[in-house]
Amino acid sequence: MTTTRSSSTPAKLVLRCSRCGDRVAPPALACPRCPDALLRSDYRESRFRPLDRQDIFRFSEWLPPEVVIDTPVGPVVYDGERLARHLGLRHLAVAFSGYAPELGAHNPTGTFKDFEALPTLLHLREAGVDAIVLASAGSTGRAFAYAATLLAFRTYIVVPETALEAVWLPIPPSDAVRLVVLDGSGDYSSAIEAAGAISSAFSIVSEGGARNVARRDGMGTALLEYARTFGALPAHYVQAVGSGTGGIAAWEASARLIASGSFQGPLPHLHLVQNAPFAPIHDAWSAGAETLLPADSSDEARRIAEIRAPVLANRRPPYALAGGVREALRATGGRTYAATNEEIVAAQRLFEDLEGVSIGPEAGAALCGLEQGLGRGWIHRDDPILLHVTGNGDALLRRDFSLCRVDPWLRITSAEDVRGDRRLERRFAA
Ligand SMILES: *Cc1c(COP(=O)(O)O)cnc(C)c1O
Repeated sequence: MTTTRSSSTPAKLVLRCSRCGDRVAPPALACPRCPDALLRSDYRESRFRPLDRQDIFRFSEWLPPEVVIDTPVGPVVYDGERLARHLGLRHLAVAFSGYAPELGAHNPTGTFKDFEALPTLLHLREAGVDAIVLASAGSTGRAFAYAATLLAFRTYIVVPETALEAVWLPIPPSDAVRLVVLDGSGDYSSAIEAAGAISSAFSIVSEGGARNVARRDGMGTALLEYARTFGALPAHYVQAVGSGTGGIAAWEASARLIASGSFQGPLPHLHLVQNAPFAPIHDAWSAGAETLLPADSSDEARRIAEIRAPVLANRRPPYALAGGVREALRATGGRTYAATNEEIVAAQRLFEDLEGVSIGPEAGAALCGLEQGLGRGWIHRDDPILLHVTGNGDALLRRDFSLCRVDPWLRITSAEDVRGDRRLERRFAA
């Protein structure tokens, strides 16, 4: 579906290189001159004008797709009064980006990955793309499988065998979803490698991860919803991160709100939380390093195996890219944290006791970061704070739906399997 536009109407969206400032036409993933820089959205509409809708397309003016569709996907922000009282805070808002109808949150796969998948597939469809490939450790795969089913958009999702159980949907998956399972000991990094091999061997567009502006602008809607609800920016934004893309997104959304003229700065301080003993962003930032610290990959694998929030295990977050995590932390006076499994369990319990809804380990980690930030005096008790509950597990989805597993479409053992295989080529073309 393409939209014709008279030459006098500027495009809804152009992309700008965060290093050289050059304009690039969407849906590009990189500036031709600066491969190590993220592109950033520059929308025709500079004013903050939420539409009168309940879902994510309330912020359609600042999302890449031209169309809006009715969807249960969207950000919810509420006053976390009980948690605030317990922690002695004056103003704590909770962005609840999971599935909890009792809070008005209906995200169909239970995490804020739903904010990324739908705008991405709509945007690519408008650009004339008809199939994509991506790698996932679980929650991304679910969100894209849901959006792919909804839009009948062919989507190859590569997951390590260990993540297969995490790929389910509250609706029967359509055959637009093609799940490629990496058998054996492969982890998320090997899935990324296999997705890259599939993309180049069969000319399938790569979704792009952190480089994809539709993903980042989708995630940024939690901050936009805070601004819409409270008419101001928070002083602090607290989120658990693996890639850190959500942190970059919150920074970009805040900058866009300030540039709109309707909101005052300063930019919210980012507080990004990881799960010890695997915390590469926290380790690099705490060491004052310009790039991620070198690590021995078998030791990394051992530490990844220990963490309670495996979704946060990204070995190569976009830390040093221009426009990436390090710059986001620097620009916002940000802080990073590492929470242990035990601390995360305690935080999950605390949230459930006070707020009445169970949350996932990632959101538990975010709450640990908030507690640590308060303890160190990096967050003041009177400051307005936005705590992002990025997901809440599948308990409530199981209560309300019978969840459908996605059956593997193909099993491979490594990226090597897809190179130069004629039979597979025909299968991918069909
Ligand atoms: C993906 C994910 C995260 C981490 O998000 P990034 O911003 O991409 O690092 C946190 N919580 C949940 C529930 C997730 O699914």
